[in-house]
Amino acid sequence: MVQLAKESLSRRSVLLGAAAIAAGALAEAAPSLRPGRMPPAAVPRDPFLSKYASDQQARHVAEERMAALLNAQGPRPPDMEYYLRGVPADLLTTSPPGLTKPVWDPSVLNTFVSMGPQDRPMVALTIDDGAAALDETLKVIRDEGAGATFFLTGKYLDRRKDFLQQALETPGIEIANHTWNHSDLSSLGDDRIREELTRFETMLADTVHGASSAPFMRPPGGAKSERVVQVAAGLGYRTILWTISGDAGTLAPGQLVEHYLRQIDRRTEVVDGQVSYRGAWGSIILMHFRPGTCSVLPDIIREIRARGMQPVSLSKLYEDGRT
Ligand SMILES: [Zn+2]
Repeated sequence: MVQLAKESLSRRSVLLGAAAIAAGALAEAAPSLRPGRMPPAAVPRDPFLSKYASDQQARHVAEERMAALLNAQGPRPPDMEYYLRGVPADLLTTSPPGLTKPVWDPSVLNTFVSMGPQDRPMVALTIDDGAAALDETLKVIRDEGAGATFFLTGKYLDRRKDFLQQALETPGIEIANHTWNHSDLSSLGDDRIREELTRFETMLADTVHGASSAPFMRPPGGAKSERVVQVAAGLGYRTILWTISGDAGTLAPGQLVEHYLRQIDRRTEVVDGQVSYRGAWGSIILMHFRPGTCSVLPDIIREIRARGMQPVSLSKLYEDGRT
């Protein structure tokens, strides 16, 4: 019994240690906050393998966990290769599964979120509205191999239904509900709220066979109320707000990169002498379909990866029963 407890404790600390070290060591190799600067070519000393090399089982468990963490969508940052040398190849070549949307109970749908689950090195990229820069933004996400959730507004997409099809054919991309008219839902009656959401959903379903925007909705302007959350939940939607934002104002594209990264880096802490980005894991990043944002999106995606995190869709962030 004691032996078992001890073993389980040791396995647990190995898992936590591996995850922290992966994030921490990458953070160490990550660039300073100057936008556009890539991580240095030199790799840090490897505290991971040397620490556990004498314990094969612990090492195997840690490596499996590492592989699961790192086998998220998209290419791995270059520094990551260093940590994967000892990981069995078949664990790393498994292609990421298709998106499976979370199935939430009414009690979960009735809660809004502004931060996702924090157990893995991922952040959700959410991009809103859709009045401009649609194709360009989709191309960036595709070229970077990232995942994203597009919160689209029906009236902007009515004449670009072809975009809905293209977006849903792109691996890692999903479409969510940002109402039909971009109305302030908190000022509307229950029936009008339902109409705003179902009109978008109907258009999407009529355009792309089998497509649905559930279970994610974002109220325009973040204007939520208890009633908005409840009415949306009644239609199968959870109200999704955000953790990190900043492209809706007047910042120039060059300033945007630093503005977003500063919000991520603010969550940095030092664990065992290493910089850790764990505090930023699970962040929901809000951006908009705008030419300026689109022009710096590749930089932002690369800087997120340089900090050991994968930019993914909300379904990926919430997969496997996470709430
Ligand atoms: Zn909006």
